[in-house]
Amino acid sequence: MLKLKDIRTFYGNIMALKGVSMDISEGEIITLIGANGAGKSTTLMSICGIVPPRSGEILFMGKPIQHMKPDRIVSLGISQVPEGRRIFPYLTVLENLDMGAFLRNDKENVKRDLEYIFELFPILAERRYQTGGTLSGGEQQMLAISRALMAKPRLLLLDEPSLGLAPLVVKQIFDIITKVNSEQGTTIFLVEQNANLALKVAHRGYVMENGRITLSDNAASLLSNEDVKKAYLGL
Ligand code: ATP
Repeated sequence: MLKLKDIRTFYGNIMALKGVSMDISEGEIITLIGANGAGKSTTLMSICGIVPPRSGEILFMGKPIQHMKPDRIVSLGISQVPEGRRIFPYLTVLENLDMGAFLRNDKENVKRDLEYIFELFPILAERRYQTGGTLSGGEQQMLAISRALMAKPRLLLLDEPSLGLAPLVVKQIFDIITKVNSEQGTTIFLVEQNANLALKVAHRGYVMENGRITLSDNAASLLSNEDVKKAYLGL
């Protein structure tokens, strides 16, 4: 579904991604783990066209997307939930969700998808007329994920969904991620510093260090890999 071929991404003269190659198949949950500053967010931003790579290729469903504008990439079926859950604080929950469906052509299905979102996150249904900025951190993360889902993506990119949230809320959010993957067939690319959690829900994982992929394997093998345990699982 998604193929990154030797991408190099820069901030000015600084090379943040130094030749990254990855493969994601349809229906998978893939996680990218790594320390602070390894280049995980940059990988997501390269895929969704916010910080395009300077060289290499990104293929989505076989089509090169590395020169496309972000809105075009969204309309092809890739949605991102950025780090720090950037929702619209002055819009209501309902308006935030409507914004997610903005680029869709099949407006007739939007109502049904909204109902599905409210089933996943009943708290958002309760708070539908409340402005986004008045929600708790966990509810804002739920809203950010839901807004991305309202675009009906084939590939959902999640950047650190657990960041700053209480363990119980994190569990709820990860349960929903798994549910969306299994019920809707949505492919998920999950960037996480919480490697333990991420590898428990993912099918496969990649480890990134200093702008390079250093390891890739199925999630169970990574969980029992001694180097991964030491560096990322605190074991
Ligand atoms: P974190 O979990 O802290 O977000 P990360 O693995 O997502 O880390 P990136 O945010 O992708 O890492 O950063 C990769 C490298 O690029 C780092 O060295 C970082 O300092 C640098 N970088 C990131 N954003 C910018 C920017 N806007 N301008 C300049 N350098 C940047």
